[in-house]
Amino acid sequence: MFCFVVMQNVDNYRHKGLRKHLVGKLRGDGIKDELVLDAISKVPRHLFFGNDSIFYETYAYEDKAFPIGEGQTISQPYTVAYQSELLQVKSGEKVLEIGTGSGYQAVVLAILGASVFTIERHQILHDRTKSFLLNKLVEHLPIVEKINFYYGDGFEGLPGQAPFDKIIITAAVPELPKKLLQQLCVEGKIVLPYGTERDCTMIRITKHADGQYEDEVFEKCAFVPMLKGKVNHA
Ligand code: SAH
Repeated sequence: MFCFVVMQNVDNYRHKGLRKHLVGKLRGDGIKDELVLDAISKVPRHLFFGNDSIFYETYAYEDKAFPIGEGQTISQPYTVAYQSELLQVKSGEKVLEIGTGSGYQAVVLAILGASVFTIERHQILHDRTKSFLLNKLVEHLPIVEKINFYYGDGFEGLPGQAPFDKIIITAAVPELPKKLLQQLCVEGKIVLPYGTERDCTMIRITKHADGQYEDEVFEKCAFVPMLKGKVNHA
């Protein structure tokens, strides 16, 4: 039994090899930012698959989303890499993430040097992810200790922590969340999937000093929806 528990938190050469292969695929699919690719190569994604980790070791390094409970998913690695690249994170920047989910995107941002604030509306996911990152993943990546976790409605943002240099939304939004735009620094950027679950497009908005916002439109994408309010099934 003891041996089995230890096995579940293992990150070995085989996993590192699988990650190298995944990074090669992401590069081939158009991800260019070497810092983002390097961050992906450092995160043991198989450990994010909960108690069934050992059964999904290979699957975890395919470029696929996966259910994490509460009807939510850990995003596809390509999506995480793509959003991270568009965010253009610089070391020391304050980054707000909406939709903690499994915590995978938050960890990638932390490795990129961001000071990460992440919000999740499902209390169960918030509790589980915070506990996994701070009690298990920390052994592999001590940087995760610096991530700040919040249970709440991302539409409200975190006014007490604003302004943010960057904001990333990891759920599809049909309307631009005004409170989040207000919480951006001047020259800050927000990256979000704009639209509905089945039909959304990645966009990046930059807030300029004269109060104008500049939009850039990127690829079509698929995300779970960003929903209003908090959920507590306990
Ligand atoms: N970034 C995550 C992806 C999670 S999927 C990862 O790396 O695994 C999107 C997440 O957004 C889900 O967990 C969902 O519950 C959450 N979400 C949806 N609407 C939200 C809201 N208004 N506030 C906070 N989180 C929200």
